Amino acid sequence: MSTHRLDVPQLHRRLDEQRRELGLTWRDVARQTRLAPATFSRITSGRSLEADALVTLLVWLDLDTGITALIEPGDTPLPCPYCGRAFQPKRDGGIRAHPCRKAAD
Ligand SMILES: [Zn+2]
Repeated sequence: MSTHRLDVPQLHRRLDEQRRELGLTWRDVARQTRLAPATFSRITSGRSLEADALVTLLVWLDLDTGITALIEPGDTPLPCPYCGRAFQPKRDGGIRAHPCRKAAD
């Protein structure tokens, strides 16, 4: 057992506050954070969540100050093999379609 644990109901309260303040639905929050809606169901029912989901939510809540050294963006840009431009990968890990790719095909 660790010496600390996540206070999930408190996390839920903070998320709900910010969500209402921004006039968003939970679905909107899921979309903004790119987390599965199921993650929010888990939090709502008081169950814990995985580390990457937690840091994503801390960033969304602006609560990440001081632990930023532990956090890095999830997507490493992928260079296009044809033009070398870097793109954020799509969710399936592929590269986005862009003009040079069409020209190459
Ligand atoms: Zn390209």
